Parts: sequence; structure tokens; C-alpha cells
Amino acid sequence: MNILKLSGVGAKRAHSLYTAGISTVADLLNHFPRDYDDRTQVKTVAELSLDAVNTIRGIVATDPETATLPRKGTKPLNITKVIIKDHTGTLELVWFNQPYLKKYFKKHGEYIFTGKVRSMHGQRVQMQSPEYEPCNENELSHARIVPIYTTPPQFSQKTFRALIHQALEASNRTAGQAGNGENEAFIDHLPSSIRKKYNLCNRKTAICNIHFPESDELFLAARQRLVFEELFFMQTALLQMKGATTAQAGILFDDVDMKPFLRTLPFSLTNAQAGVLADIAKDISTGGRMNRLIQGDVGSGKTAVAMAAAYLAMKNGYQAALMAPTDVLANQHFMQCRQFFAPPGFETVLLTGSIGAKARREALAKIQDGRAAMIVGTHALIQEKVEYARLGLAITDEQHRFGVNQRLSLTQKAMSDSVMPHTLVMTATPIPRTLGMILYGDLDISIINELPPGRQVIKTYAVNSKYQQRIHDFIRKEVEQGRQAYIICPAIEASQEEASETAAAKAEMKNVIDYTAALSAALPDMKISCLHGKMKPTDKQQIMDDFKSGCIHALVSTTVIEVGVHVANATLMIIENAERFGLSQLHQLRGRVGRGEAQSYCVLITDTKNDETKQRMKAMCDTADGFKLAELDLELRGAGDFFGTRQHGLPSFAIANLYRDMDVLKEVQVTVVEMERLEISGEEEGAIKMRIARVLDNTLGGVM
Ligand code: ADP
Ligand code: MG
Repeated sequence: MNILKLSGVGAKRAHSLYTAGISTVADLLNHFPRDYDDRTQVKTVAELSLDAVNTIRGIVATDPETATLPRKGTKPLNITKVIIKDHTGTLELVWFNQPYLKKYFKKHGEYIFTGKVRSMHGQRVQMQSPEYEPCNENELSHARIVPIYTTPPQFSQKTFRALIHQALEASNRTAGQAGNGENEAFIDHLPSSIRKKYNLCNRKTAICNIHFPESDELFLAARQRLVFEELFFMQTALLQMKGATTAQAGILFDDVDMKPFLRTLPFSLTNAQAGVLADIAKDISTGGRMNRLIQGDVGSGKTAVAMAAAYLAMKNGYQAALMAPTDVLANQHFMQCRQFFAPPGFETVLLTGSIGAKARREALAKIQDGRAAMIVGTHALIQEKVEYARLGLAITDEQHRFGVNQRLSLTQKAMSDSVMPHTLVMTATPIPRTLGMILYGDLDISIINELPPGRQVIKTYAVNSKYQQRIHDFIRKEVEQGRQAYIICPAIEASQEEASETAAAKAEMKNVIDYTAALSAALPDMKISCLHGKMKPTDKQQIMDDFKSGCIHALVSTTVIEVGVHVANATLMIIENAERFGLSQLHQLRGRVGRGEAQSYCVLITDTKNDETKQRMKAMCDTADGFKLAELDLELRGAGDFFGTRQHGLPSFAIANLYRDMDVLKEVQVTVVEMERLEISGEEEGAIKMRIARVLDNTLGGVM
């Protein structure tokens, strides 16, 4: 049914709904509340709670008043004031710029209001911009659990809620009538065998109760069902996508004798590395397209595997590209590739935003005419100007720093070639398995679950800032033994703001500029430098080179060194304001040390005493396992924070919350695997297919 059939929806509102992706009544009903207000508790004036949303019933005591306040530089402010009373007292209500309300409220009329109650300079209490409804009208907005929506323009909460209610009633009226598809939102696409197995309510009950819950129980059942449904179709769609990639034609690589390359490495591969290499060799010899994720803890040796894969591609006459998230890391990879690939006769070129115009022109030419076999760079690699002669393998390092789209565009760069290159992505951010299926559902996963031999556990301590002197002593001791140290601060420089509240908070945040000065003063005989993201790329590179060569003893840095940087001689990692970093990030930072044979240390400094911080510090001290830390991080912070933002490629959900609904996700994953054994009719299968198509179109749109 078209939304124009609903009363109150004209061209303007229909357009507004349309821009929010709502063009039918079914779409409208599939637009779920983002929250709920519990208005089952109607309070009296005497019972109001300050600074909270309250629902109150009262009689208008005096004629409403409006006043207009002139304001400098902007339109005057209109204020409408209404006084209501009940048997316990009176309350002042105000609205801004809604002058028509003066005529709306009638003296002696009884209304119900929901809004935030504030104390005005401690003198009187006021309810501001409440929702309102005459007492005798339908009880949509009060005395019940009331849905709150993300509303399209042109709609207030109240009007949108009324519209949903109307849509529900219309659908209920036509429900069950043969031959009309009017209530599409009620049609159940979940096979009944699955519904039965997990005790899920039908869609009609779910839709009615997600909008206007009849009871707590029904609400929970409704939510459970809709979450299951959403995750189920997402997961099935991802599996299908994965099947599609594997089915895509890929470049068929010949078997390559890897020995000459492996002999040049200063170590032999660990079993885990060799296993992953075997996975890769298998993928690229089938004629299908490889789309593989390598997950390996910090320091597990992903680079060697990537380089071996690149060698394979180059030996087959193709180019290989390696994309890294930072200039510093791209440079490091470039040096390594050049060292190992020059002897067998492969030219490596570097392409970053900071190599200078001439070098850039040269690199682009070599990439285009094929002289460059190995191409290393930052996201400069996916810019328009870059044309690959014959890209056979696209590798993305530290993929979690890029979005899904960037990962894909490196792959798609070679599309003009008609055959897509094989894709390898690497990440040290261990993703808990369940989430991996959602985040990387389209990828095959290999895990390097073993560190190279001889690595020592990094001794980790958590202390407060009173330990500063001892930390300086610690740095001195390590440096005197010929070692080097990192110190991480969250900020670059002191905040310039006035002494506001936030500035006070920032004052406690250590910054690299001041820290470098203070440390240089405390340890005058040592060479101490700082590194941060606002420096010129060439300066950053100079500092990293000096640190690598040992000219710099201690490096005070922001988290720019978080990923990938490798200096085996560094043995001490000090992290200031450790409370500001998530567990996975702390683990990454800690992974900058412990890369050689010598015992390494990590010191976390924090003055924060809240429980969550304490738990995190303890976990860091007790655990060296990145996967365990990632699980815990997820538990402590929730999926949203864990991944930061959508740029990690996490699909957005209408109702499911990956953290809260982890248990449902696990059930769904079991179901999806077991599907073949469940009883599903042809009709049900058709419904599933339709929904998958929709998921691929909407949520995962552009990803394929
Ligand atoms: P990450 O997985 O974090 O990217 P790297 O590839 O940077 O790890 O490797 C970390 C260090 O371990 C490097 O110095 C690398 O040379 C070394 N390494 C890698 N594989 C092995 C191995 N099999 N045996 C010994 N050292 C290794
Ligand atoms: Mg790495």
C-alpha cells in the first residue's frame, strides 16, 4: 500500500518519507523505534524527578501567556508559558517558538504532558517543550511504553508515531483478506521450521509489539524475533556473496618453486606461516579468485607471508601491490621488499602522497608499463591516475585501518583487465570469530596462531603518574644497555583553550611536545625526539630512520606508530594516559616492542580509578593473547566502540546490536550452517532468496 493512502500524508510528507527510504506502508512498519519512553508512570507535581523525563497529568490553571524576547543578531525568541495544577501543586511548562500553543491550551482543560523537568536557578521547577495531549483523546502517547523514532523531516515524534499507528491499523484491517498484498510487513519470510526451533513469534505479532508493546513480554519476544530475522538474512547474504567470489574466475597461477625466495629470508617460516602460505597457494591454483584474510597477532610475521605471496605472483609474470595505512609503514615495507626482491630481479617502487612530483611521475610510468613488479604504497595506490599493467595480487596490510570500500578499490583497480586480481588482506586486530563472520563474511580466513620462536612475553605493568621518576630511571637503564624506548602520549600539543571544563580534562592529557621537552630536561645526555601525525612526511621518515639506526634513544610519539612499525632493538614501551586507549589498541602499541630476542617491557600509566579502566589494565598485565584481549574489549566497550565507526565495514542494522545480541548472532550462525538439514518448502526458499537480494541491494550495496 502506498503511503499516500494514509491520512495526513500529502505530497510534502510523502517526499520526506521517501528520502528516508519509506515509500510503502510496509516500509513504514519496518522503520523500527530507536528507543522507548516508559510513560506508564504518571506522576504528580510532588513526585516529579529533576533533570529527567516525566509524564504528568494536570489541569491548566491560568490562561496561557506568550512573550517575545529580543535576541542579539538573531530572530527574537517566542516563549509560551502554561501553568498546570494537580492536587499536590502547580508546575510551569514552557515551549519555544510555538506561539499557536497559546490558543491550543484551554483554561480548566485537562492534558497529559511528557518532558524534561529542570530546576531554574534552584528557584522554581519548569517542564520544557513537553509533548502534550488532551486527556480524553486516544492514548497513543501516554500512560504506556511509547516508541521514539528517528523521524524524517516534516515529522515530530508525535505525528510520526500517529502515522505508524494508523499504518498498523490499516494493515490489521486488511490482514487476512485474500488476494491483497496490502500487509507485506506482516508476511513471514523466516521458514516455520526455524521459527519453531528458536521459539520465535510470527512477524505480525513482532511488528505490532515492536511499535506499541502490549506488555514487556511481548516486546521482548518481538525484538528477539526481529533481531534474529535481521541477522539471519544478513548472514545468509554474506555467505552467498562469499560463494559468488569463489565462483568468480581468477587468474590461474602456475606452481612456483618457493625455495629460492625462502632461502633469502633470515629465518624459516613458522608452521603457522607455512600453513597460510599453503592456503594461498591452493587458492590461486584453482582458477577461482582468492579473497582471503590473514589474521595474525602483532609480530606473528604477516609481512613474510605477504611477500611470499607477492613472489608467487611476480614469478607468474604479474604485478603485486601492497597497500599500507601510513607513510611510515609503507616506507618500511618498501625497504624490505626492495631488499628481498632485487636479487631475483624484480623492481620495487614506492608510491605515497609524499614522494615528490618527479618520483611520482616515474613510479606511475613504471607501474603502467610493467617495469615495476612490486608496488608498495599508501592509499595513493588506489587513486585514479594509477594504472596497473597487469596486477595479479592486491594486498592490504592492517586492513582494519581502511574501510571495506578501500580494500575493494585496490582490487577493482585492475578491473579494466577484465579479470580481477587475487586479494589478500592482513590484520593484526583480532576480530572475535562471531564478528569476523559479519565483518569479513565475504572472505576466507587464515589465522597465524603462533609467534616466531624465541619471543619472550612482554612484561607489562600498570602504575600511576607518581612513578614518573622511576620511569625515567627505567628508560635510562634500558638505554644504557644499548636498548631503545617508545613513549606514547594521546595528544600532540597542549590545548589552547581557556580554562573550561574540557580544557581541564585535556590538561591531564599528556602531549608529545611538552613530554619531549620535559624528558630531554630529565635525561639531558640522551637523544630524545618526538613524532606525530602533523609533521611533514619527510621529517617523520627522517625520525623513523634515525630511531631505526639507533641515533635516537627514546621516541615520544602519538599513536602514529601504532601499526606495523618494526624496530627490533626497542625494548621499552611506555603508554601515558593508558585509560584513553582500548584494549586492542594497547595490545597493538605493546606489540612495537618484544620484536627481538631481548626481554621487553610495557608500562601503562594511568591515574584513572574507574572499574572499567582497572579491568583493562589488569587484562593487559595478565594476558599476552590478542584474541582474548579482543573478546574482552568487545565485552567491556561494545561493538560500536570496538570498531570505532562504520568505516570498519560493519554493516548497519535496523534493530540488531552486535554486542547486545551476540547470543542471537551465535544461534543464527548455527542455523545458517544447519540450513540444509532443516525442512524448508520451496515457497519459503523463494522468500529467503527475495530477502537476500534485498540485503545485498540495501545494506551491502556497493560492497560487492
Ligand atoms: P606482523 O605480523 O605484526 O606484521 P612482522 O611481519 O612485522 O609481524 O614480523 C615481525 C618480526 O618477526 C619481523 O622482524 C620479522 O622479520 C620476524 N619474523 C617473521 N617471521 C619469522 C619467523 N618465522 N621466524 C623468526 N622471525 C620471524
Ligand atoms: Mg605488519
